[in-house]
Amino acid sequence: MKPLSGNNIRQLWLKFFNAKGHQTIPGASLIPYNDPTLLWINSGVAAIKKYFDGSEIPTQKRLTNVQKSIRTNDIEYVGYTARHHTFFEMLGNFSIGDYFRKEAIEWAFEILTSQDYFALDVNRIYATYNPSDTLSKQYWEACGLPADHLIPLEGNYWQIGEGPCGPNTEVFYDRGEAYDPKQQGIELLKQEMNNDRYIEIWGIVFSQYNAVEGQTRAQYKELPSKNIDTGAGLERLACIMQGTPTNFETDLFYPIIQATEKLAKVTYAESEYRPYRVIADHIRTLTFALTDGALFSNEGRGYVLRRILRRALRYGKKIGIHEPFLSSLVPTVAMMMHAFYPELTSQQERVAKIIHAEEQKFIHTLTTGEQLLKKHMDEGNITSEQAFKLYDTYGFPIELTIEMASEKGIIVDREGFEKLMEEQRERARQARVAISSMQKQSADLLAFKTPSTFVYDGLPIQGKVIGLFVDGVAVKTIEEEGYVIFDQTNFYAESGGQISDQGSWENIQTRLEVLDVQKAPNKQPMHFIKVSFGKVSLGDVFTGTIHTRKRQRIKKNHSALHLLQFALRKVLGTHITQRGSYAGDDYARFDFTHNGKISYEEIQTLETLVNDEIAAGYPLQIEVLPIEQARKTGAIAPFDETYGELVRVVTLGPNSKEFCGGTHVENTQDIGVFTIISEESIAAGTRRMTIKTSTAAYLALKQREKMLHHVQETLQAKSPVEVRDRLQVVMNEKDNLKLQTNHLLDQLANQESQVALAGKEMYQGQRWVIRVLKKTNKDMLTRIADRLKSDVDAMVLVGEDDGTYPLLISFNTKKLSPSLLAGQFMKLLTSKLGGSGGGRPEQAFGALKSIDRFLETVQELRDASK
Ligand code: ATP
Ligand code: MG
Repeated sequence: MKPLSGNNIRQLWLKFFNAKGHQTIPGASLIPYNDPTLLWINSGVAAIKKYFDGSEIPTQKRLTNVQKSIRTNDIEYVGYTARHHTFFEMLGNFSIGDYFRKEAIEWAFEILTSQDYFALDVNRIYATYNPSDTLSKQYWEACGLPADHLIPLEGNYWQIGEGPCGPNTEVFYDRGEAYDPKQQGIELLKQEMNNDRYIEIWGIVFSQYNAVEGQTRAQYKELPSKNIDTGAGLERLACIMQGTPTNFETDLFYPIIQATEKLAKVTYAESEYRPYRVIADHIRTLTFALTDGALFSNEGRGYVLRRILRRALRYGKKIGIHEPFLSSLVPTVAMMMHAFYPELTSQQERVAKIIHAEEQKFIHTLTTGEQLLKKHMDEGNITSEQAFKLYDTYGFPIELTIEMASEKGIIVDREGFEKLMEEQRERARQARVAISSMQKQSADLLAFKTPSTFVYDGLPIQGKVIGLFVDGVAVKTIEEEGYVIFDQTNFYAESGGQISDQGSWENIQTRLEVLDVQKAPNKQPMHFIKVSFGKVSLGDVFTGTIHTRKRQRIKKNHSALHLLQFALRKVLGTHITQRGSYAGDDYARFDFTHNGKISYEEIQTLETLVNDEIAAGYPLQIEVLPIEQARKTGAIAPFDETYGELVRVVTLGPNSKEFCGGTHVENTQDIGVFTIISEESIAAGTRRMTIKTSTAAYLALKQREKMLHHVQETLQAKSPVEVRDRLQVVMNEKDNLKLQTNHLLDQLANQESQVALAGKEMYQGQRWVIRVLKKTNKDMLTRIADRLKSDVDAMVLVGEDDGTYPLLISFNTKKLSPSLLAGQFMKLLTSKLGGSGGGRPEQAFGALKSIDRFLETVQELRDASK
């Protein structure tokens, strides 16, 4: 065993698998790209799903990565076990239809035990396997694992619904009896008990069968392309190799704990560890997620982050930190992880700012929560729903609520609270979508590798048919509809947000109408066609003609998106990252991360900036460069794409340079006019701008002018400039009318109160007014009551207002008998006559369902309260 640092482990992992012919793929953002089914990237395979479902074929069949992962469903384990985190790094090696079980097991064994790599003690390694998977057992034995270190477990099978599935094998490391307080030994593993002695370090999935509903596992057929998917936890490996009691004392966490100790009132050991561990875990999650563009909010990802931050702050209180402190830990996280994640350093200021603002917001919420709690306590009761709301909305730990309530002698229904918690957890569980990564594979399409060239210029082209497919199956002829692949094509296949071309392929006998073009698994443009006449067979030659006007419009919109991205980064900041885009022929859309609203003025500035770039008439420049060289140009990579060897860099003037495979205008002037049609929030921290260019932009602007014209007409203004003045006049008139109405209502209230006063009666020496007032709403009741207050001691007024009966009770409690309280009288009255209401001892508002027995009931209640 070697005390390797976290960074050493990452490097050795990649080095080992590179030596075994694996290509390193860069880690993807924690925020899944264009994948609404997944909240966070939660494993190595989630980041390269497209290769596993066969929708794309990678340039290499053997891949390796280090992938940031977030699993919020493990949050309850954090700090309780030695080995669970909400954010962790997964080390992976993958085979896409290449090597399989034997190599996967042998290499796992080799890297774990080799002196050049992890040098773990063989006697401490265990592996579990599916009982049906005797081959895995055999391979592990051949590596040198003794039979009693091989544990069959029925649960070792990976399957999500229909599609690819298969057995898995898991590698465990025995940390010895020191971590086995009840000395249960191997039973811990056999019975799958939650324990910190046998640590699961690595999971290896053999994706080899096709699950079909209604079949048993034994009946599943073998997949045409079998895959290996593995994941090993970096923090767990570090814990084992550094010999620490838990993951939290490794170099991947401990500096955070030390930094926190400087702020706290008790040390790590004195706190019994847990608060410190939760804080260290949560600040890593927050820092990484925010660096990748996530933001706090009230839904989805942002809500998860909000809860994590609040949880960390609450644990801060437990160790005596009462001020915002999390933002001050961000530089520590950046410093620890900088070597592998340099972006943490460049983003650290921004991230710390966002965290600080969120911490302050929470402290404000806590204060509001405290007030609410006090109010409940004044009312003498706290229901389980109220306790839950305090927890859920105001971040009040149930323990705190119980403690504060008990000081006032109030008992909180803890059981009811736990039930509500369980219900919420259940909702969360159901909302969690499993990685349903695997579509059905089409063996023929996967196997089709003949290249097809895409020619950018869009001019008519001759193409020979090299592939024909109907429902994924290769055929020789198509007479109705299906997919055609040509040796070369001028049709753009939908990708990078740009829609496909439409048009036709023709020769003397046949005409094919192209409705859509998609990329085949091996990236050839694949035309979905309908045969207008004739038929198409392999080897036929056609002339392809695209719908040129449509292509022109798409190009203008696509190029405009590039200029918009430049403008957004200039106006709003460089944190803007693209989260999706759409370039169609009638409009285009750009989705990006940004917190907060975008003002009208900012939109104006964006439009002006883009139109300036257009007017400048910059020519298009295209370069195809090796990836490393391309990155050096400073070009923006639109998203976490895993690029091939060569990438295309699109330059539009001095300000816009992006990796992009799409089609573009030859000169920015071709775009004509640019306008932003709308701007909205589409998800937590993600905004969408919709734009138009050229004639479509002109028409949109005209449309707005027309609207203004209608407003002008309605206001009878002579010119658009006069509209504002006219509107101001109308608003002033409205204010005047309001004043007049108020005045009239006051007069009316004076009269009504005089009438009411005349009808007052004396009851036990007190002046009472009990009245039904016709055509009187709540507002008028209040006005009348205000005027009567000084002349009467008690009033019970009910109005008749369009079938509703607003009710007002006002008591001078200083003069009346102490048992007469307006709020309680209201409750009694509404319970007798139907209705609802409530209020303070002096004044209460409500509404009655009926006023049939109003006078008598009031009198009865009054008599009864003596
Ligand atoms: P466990 O049963 O320990 O929760 P798992 O079966 O959920 O693990 P996999 O989904 O197979 O784990 O993930 C592969 C590897 O990633 C695990 O072997 C482990 O090393 C690591 N891992 C999984 N979840 C976590 C976590 N919450 N924190 C740290 N490492 C983890
Ligand atoms: Mg797990």
